[in-house]
Amino acid sequence: MNELSTTFYLRQLLVGRDIGRANAAGRQMQNFVYLVGDRATRQCLVVDPAWDIKGILACAAEDDMRIVGALVSHYHPDHIGGSLFGLNVEGLAALMTDNPCPVHVHKLEADGVIEITGISESDVRRHEGNDRVKLGDVEVELLHTPGHTPGSQCFRVDRALVSGDTLFLQGCGRVDLPGGSAEEMERTITQRLASLPDDLTLYPGHAYGGEHAPLGEVRKNNPFFTRATRRTSNRP
Ligand SMILES: [Zn+2]
Ligand SMILES: [Zn+2]
Repeated sequence: MNELSTTFYLRQLLVGRDIGRANAAGRQMQNFVYLVGDRATRQCLVVDPAWDIKGILACAAEDDMRIVGALVSHYHPDHIGGSLFGLNVEGLAALMTDNPCPVHVHKLEADGVIEITGISESDVRRHEGNDRVKLGDVEVELLHTPGHTPGSQCFRVDRALVSGDTLFLQGCGRVDLPGGSAEEMERTITQRLASLPDDLTLYPGHAYGGEHAPLGEVRKNNPFFTRATRRTSNRP
C-alpha cells in the first residue's frame, strides 16, 4: 500500500500548450509530460521528457522543484525523443545534457531506449515490475503493464496513476505496432490494473478524450475498458 503524503507534487504539462508551443507536430500529438515529486524536499521526477526539454526545466524551476530523475513509460520517440516519421523529437538526450539524472526504465525496454535516444548505459536504471523509486516522503511504484509495448509501465504515486500510452480516458494505446500485443493489453486492463482503487486519478500520456479523470469513471466510460472486462467475465 502506498503512503499518501501531504507534500505530494504533480504537474501536468501538455505539449503545444504548456511547453513546446512552437512545435506543430508536438501540438498535434497531444503528448503529456509530468512532474511528480515531494514539495518538502523540492525534488521531482519527470515522466516522459520529450519535445521541449528547456520548457520542462523552466516549469520545474518556476515551481522551485529540481528534477532528480526521469521515468520512462515506454520507448516510443514521442515520449523519450528520437526520430519520429523523419522528425527529430527532443528528449532524454537533451535532458542528459541540460540536467543529467538517472533514467528509470523497465528492463525489457532499456536497450531500446538507449538505441533510440543515444543516452549511455550508465544513465539507465533497469527495473522490474513493482520496483519503487523514492523521493523524500513520496514513493513511485512502477507497474509493468505490457500491451502497447513489451516494457510499458504505469506509475502509481500517491493518488495518481500516470499511465503513458497504456490507458487513455477514452481508449488505450495501439497494439498493432512492433512489440504490441492485444492479448497482453487485455490482461493489463482486466488483471494488472484491476486491483487499483477507483479513486486514483488517471493521468494519461496523451490528451485523447480528456486530460485526467478518476479511474472509477474511466472504468465505466472507456469503451475499451468495458469491452475487455465484459469479454473476460463472459469466459467459461
Ligand atoms: Zn507509444
Ligand atoms: Zn505516445
